[in-house]
Amino acid sequence: MSRVYNFSAGPAVLPEEVLKEAADEMMDYRGCGMSVMEMSHRSKVYDDIIKTAEADLRSLLSIPDDYEVMFLQGGASQQFAMIPMNLMKNKVADYIVTGQWAKKAYQEAQLYGKANKIASSEDKTFSYIPDCSDLPISPDADYVYICENNTIYGTKFKKLPNTKGKTLVSDVSSCFLSEPMDVTKYGLVYGGVQKNIGPAGVVIVIMKKELITEDVLPGTPTMLRYKIHADAQSLYNTPPAYGIYICGKVFKWIQKMGGLEAMKKHNEEKAKILYDFLDESSLFKGTVVKEDRSLMNVPFITGNEELDAKFVKESKAAGFENLKGHRSVGGMRASIYNAMPIEGVKALVEFMKKFEVENK
Ligand SMILES: *Cc1c(COP(=O)(O)O)cnc(C)c1O
Repeated sequence: MSRVYNFSAGPAVLPEEVLKEAADEMMDYRGCGMSVMEMSHRSKVYDDIIKTAEADLRSLLSIPDDYEVMFLQGGASQQFAMIPMNLMKNKVADYIVTGQWAKKAYQEAQLYGKANKIASSEDKTFSYIPDCSDLPISPDADYVYICENNTIYGTKFKKLPNTKGKTLVSDVSSCFLSEPMDVTKYGLVYGGVQKNIGPAGVVIVIMKKELITEDVLPGTPTMLRYKIHADAQSLYNTPPAYGIYICGKVFKWIQKMGGLEAMKKHNEEKAKILYDFLDESSLFKGTVVKEDRSLMNVPFITGNEELDAKFVKESKAAGFENLKGHRSVGGMRASIYNAMPIEGVKALVEFMKKFEVENK
């Protein structure tokens, strides 16, 4: 068996321990005589898996009792519609557009009501986070929406926007469980798990219970109502059962690693190695303003497209996978999620140094 260093933005690297454990349990989950993939989601065994996953997530993030945790399907993109369908009581919402995912969410919301773009960083190709301390929040806005970590452009909100009392909704897909997060600052926070937590097919929604009501936009499908899923504890219909099982293992792994404070330290250490190199390199440079840099997604360029392509090709041959930047921006991007070992980042920097010398 040989494993590469996988810098994919998602689906992405998972902890080897988790993969090994899942492999060991593949044919016979703890004496059940069947795989988790094969068991009823109504069984006692599965109930224990999903309940334990939720309890572990609650403990990792200190989620208070007045918040619901839901394991849903449809990816993060489905939330772009589900959020306005369920929360747009006044049919008004404010969006801070700091990248493609926020932009897509903003465009989707326009299908359901008045979505206002109250701030944007598109003027400089989303390379920074705008000042959100005093934005023109709409008096009748049902919520203020952000994408907290911009997977494609590599920026991160280091400080949450001042919503002037409005409900904050945040897409944390690519920074979920990378560091501690104060859930009580949000009305709704969600993330697709395939970036930092598990296999594609699960999206986790953490939502203040008082926001979960039957008062949704007319025509909202049953499957897109939070109340339905909350009341059924994510078992209204067949959930993405196997994916949730892997998420549960990742939660246990994070606990074993020391929890979210330890995860943050580990992620800061890794990111520093890469950013320090980018800052001193005469060939490579980061594309994001320093104070808004993401710990998870690190885009960089040489300034020469041919050289970028050469780097992507040669890095792949050397065992570094998926360093090509997003198709919309080009260049390179190293996603260094929780499960990327520090050795992977060190090896990448060594490779970049060598490439720099050879291509000066
Ligand atoms: C990947 C990603 C999405 C889209 O996720 P899907 O599960 O493919 O719909 C949305 N938001 C962010 C921040 C992402 O990184």
